[in-house]
Amino acid sequence: MSKIWDAIIIGGGAAGLFCAGIAGQLGKKILVLDHAEVLGEKIRISGGGRCNFTNKHSSPANFLSLNPHFVKSALARYPSSEFIKLVASHRIDYHEKHQGQLFCDDSAKQIIEMLMAECVKGKVIIRHPVSVQSLGRDGTDWLVQTQQGIERAKAVVMATGGLPVPAIGATPYSLDIAKQLGLNVIEPRPALVPLSFTAETFGKLNELAGLGVPVRIAAGSKGHRYGASRFNEDLLLTHKGLSGPAVLQASSYWVEGEPLHIDWLGALERPGGFNCDELFNHEENRLKLTETILASVLPQRLAKIFAEQKNLLGKKWAEVSKKDRHSLKELLTNWSVKPAGTLGWKKAEVMLGGVDTKDLDGQTMMSRKHSGLFFIGECVDVTGHLGGHNFQWAWASGFVCAQAL
Ligand SMILES: Cc1cc2nc3c(=O)[nH]c(=O)nc-3n(C[C@H](O)[C@H](O)[C@H](O)COP(=O)(O)OP(=O)(O)OC[C@H]3O[C@@H](n4cnc5c(N)ncnc54)[C@H](O)[C@@H]3O)c2cc1C
Repeated sequence: MSKIWDAIIIGGGAAGLFCAGIAGQLGKKILVLDHAEVLGEKIRISGGGRCNFTNKHSSPANFLSLNPHFVKSALARYPSSEFIKLVASHRIDYHEKHQGQLFCDDSAKQIIEMLMAECVKGKVIIRHPVSVQSLGRDGTDWLVQTQQGIERAKAVVMATGGLPVPAIGATPYSLDIAKQLGLNVIEPRPALVPLSFTAETFGKLNELAGLGVPVRIAAGSKGHRYGASRFNEDLLLTHKGLSGPAVLQASSYWVEGEPLHIDWLGALERPGGFNCDELFNHEENRLKLTETILASVLPQRLAKIFAEQKNLLGKKWAEVSKKDRHSLKELLTNWSVKPAGTLGWKKAEVMLGGVDTKDLDGQTMMSRKHSGLFFIGECVDVTGHLGGHNFQWAWASGFVCAQAL
C-alpha cells in the first residue's frame, strides 16, 4: 500500500468513467474500481443500443429532485453542448430523433470507447472485476478495502449508479455507504418504468397490445414529493399494461394509489388545428356512427372499444343524448385510471430518490459532512426525464466533481 491516489472512483459506469478521464487529464492520479466483468453495460444497452447520450435542450426543468435547484450549477458548468463537442471530436456520428434527443448513428459502444479513450489520455488506472468491501478513514486519507488489498486516497467518489436492471450489476452500494456515514437517503423507487393494471381497470384494452397512440398524459400533484407534470408523447398498449414514452415519463411523477390522467385526443389539439369540441359538435357528423367519428382521430380498434364502453357502438351521433356525449368526451379527454403498480427494477430505466442533495454541495458534489467524499450520477436524488437527460446528469455531475478532486 505505497501509493496514495488523488481519488478512487467506485463504479466505472457513465459518471465514474467520465469523471475519471477529466480528473486524470487535470493531472490527478485516479483509480477506478468496478465489480463488473464488463464496464459500461448500461451505456451499451441504452437508447435501444444507440445511446441517447444527451439532449440539446437539457435544462433544470427536465429533472426531478427534492431540491429542483440542485442541478443548476452542474448543468450550467457542463451543458449538453460541451458533451456534443466531445462526441464530435471523437468523430462519432449522431442524429437528433425527437425533441432534442441525440443518438449515435452506429452504436452505443462508441460512447464507451470514447470514455475509455479519455481515461487512457488521463492515465487512469481501471481495475475490474474487483469487489469493494469497506470504506474507512485514516486521518484525512480514505482507505478502501478491496478483495485485492487496501488502497489509500485523498478522496473517494461514489458512482455506483441506481438500482435498475440488477441483472447487469446494479447495487445500492453508494446508498449503503451514504447511510453508514450518516447522510440522508431519499427512498429509491423505479422510474421511467412501464405501469401495470388490474384486468378490471384495463378492460378490453389488453386486446390492443402493440398499439401506439399519441396522447397527453398527466401524473402527480403539486403537494407530492416531486410535484406534477404532463407530457405529449406516444403511449404504447402492452399485454401487461401501459408503456411507451408517455407512460415512462408519467411513471416518474406517479404516486402509488393515485390515478393517471390520459387525454386520448390532447396530443392532437393545437391552435388553428384539431379541436376536440369541433369533433363533437360538427353538423356533418350527425349521421355518422359514433365509432366512425372516433376513428377519424383514433386508431379504429381503440375507437370501437371506447364507443362500446359507453354503449354507443352502432349508434348514429344524432341519436346520442347530450348526457352520453358529455360522458364520452370525459372518457376520451380525461381517462382517469389507477395503475396497479410498476414493472419494477427489472424494467425501470432509472431510479427516483437516492443520496439527499441537502447533504451534498451542488458546486462539487462533495458530502457536506465528510470532506473528500463525493457522490455523482444516478445514486444522487436527481432523476432526468426520458430523452438523454439522465446521461447529461452523469456527465455534468462527473465534470464538476472532477474539477474539485
Ligand atoms: C435499459 C436502459 C436504457 C437507458 N437508456 C438511456 C438513454 O438512452 N439515455 C439516458 O440519458 N439514460 C438512459 N438510461 C439511464 C442511464 O443508463 C443511467 O442514468 C446512467 O448510466 C447512470 O450513470 P451512473 O454512472 O450513475 O451509473 P451506471 O452507468 O449504472 O454505472 C454504475 C457502475 O457502478 C458499478 N457498480 C455497481 N455496484 C457496484 C459495487 N458494489 N462495487 C463496484 N462497482 C459497482 C456498475 O458495475 C457500473 O459499472 C438507460 C437505462 C437503462 C436501464
